[in-house]
Amino acid sequence: MSGTGDDPLTASFVRHDPDGAPIPLVLDSPHSGEWYPDDFDHAPPRALVRQAEDTHVARLWRAAPALGATLIEARFPRAYIDLNRSLDDIDPELLADAWPVPLFPSRKTQQGIGLVWRLACAGVPLYSRKLASSEVRSRIDRYWQPYHAALATILDARHREFGAVWHLNCHSMPAVGDALSDDPERERADFVLGDRDGTTCEPEFMQCIADSVREMGYSVALNDPYKGVELVRKHGRPAENRHSLQVEVKRTLYMNERTLEPNAGYARVERDLARLLATLANYLRARLAAFPTRTLTVSAPHPEGGQTT
Ligand SMILES: [Zn+2]
Repeated sequence: MSGTGDDPLTASFVRHDPDGAPIPLVLDSPHSGEWYPDDFDHAPPRALVRQAEDTHVARLWRAAPALGATLIEARFPRAYIDLNRSLDDIDPELLADAWPVPLFPSRKTQQGIGLVWRLACAGVPLYSRKLASSEVRSRIDRYWQPYHAALATILDARHREFGAVWHLNCHSMPAVGDALSDDPERERADFVLGDRDGTTCEPEFMQCIADSVREMGYSVALNDPYKGVELVRKHGRPAENRHSLQVEVKRTLYMNERTLEPNAGYARVERDLARLLATLANYLRARLAAFPTRTLTVSAPHPEGGQTT
C-alpha cells in the first residue's frame, strides 16, 4: 500500500505487508527516503543534503515481511519534513509569516533539525529564503500525516488482534558525532537502542535485541546518545502492551558515509538483521503464549496478506 494520492511516484510512504500470516511486529523507517519532492528547493548541493538520510535502512530490514512483520518506509527525505518530530517543533525563524497556533520548539529545533530542518549537515543553511507557513502546512498534510496515520493504523490493528504489539523504529547514525550532535567527536557503538530511558517498551524487548546483536559480535549502547524521539514517544505505552523501541545502526558497518554506496559489510548486516528479526519473532511468540487468552496465529492466511510495494 502507498500513501498520499493515486500517483505512486508522489506517495509519501510504502507499506510492505506480511508475506503470510502476520505477527504483531511492525517496523518503520522514517528517514530512508531518497525521492526528493520538486518543491524542495534546498540551497546546498544534493550530495550534502543527502548526508541527513538514513540511506539503505528500509532495504536492510527487508526480511521483515517474510517473517510476518509489517514494514513502513518513507519515500521522501527527512530534511524536507522530519517524521520523528512533533508538529509544534517548528522554528519560527524559518517562517516568512506567523504560525497559526503556539509553537514549542525543542532542543532539536535549536540544533537546526526540528520538524522542518533549518540546517543541512555541517551546519550549512538549508534554504536561502524563508518558508511560507502554508508550505510547511502542506508538507505536514501531504507527508507527515499520512505516514503517521498509516503507522498508527497498523499498530492498532495488530494490537486489536493479538492484545499486544511491538514496534521497531529503524534508523542509522554516523559513526562519529558531528559538531551539532550531543556527542561531538565521539565514536559510537555499532547499535544504539533507545526506549526513552525505560518508558516506551518492556525492558525484556530491548534486552532481547541487545543480547542478540551482542552475540553476533556488535557493540551496543542503550539510550546513549539517542534515546528515541517522537515516533517511539507517540507509540510506546508498555502498560497497554504497546512496545516501541528506536534502533540506530552505525552507517560505516554497511556503507561509505561520504558516497552512500554500500560497502563490503552490507551483506553481513542485512543477514544479521534478518537473524535478529527471526529471534524477535520467537520472542513475541513466547510473550504471547504467556498471555492468558491469546496465542499467536501461524496458520490461516490473513486478509491483509500479500506484499505490496
Ligand atoms: Zn533516522
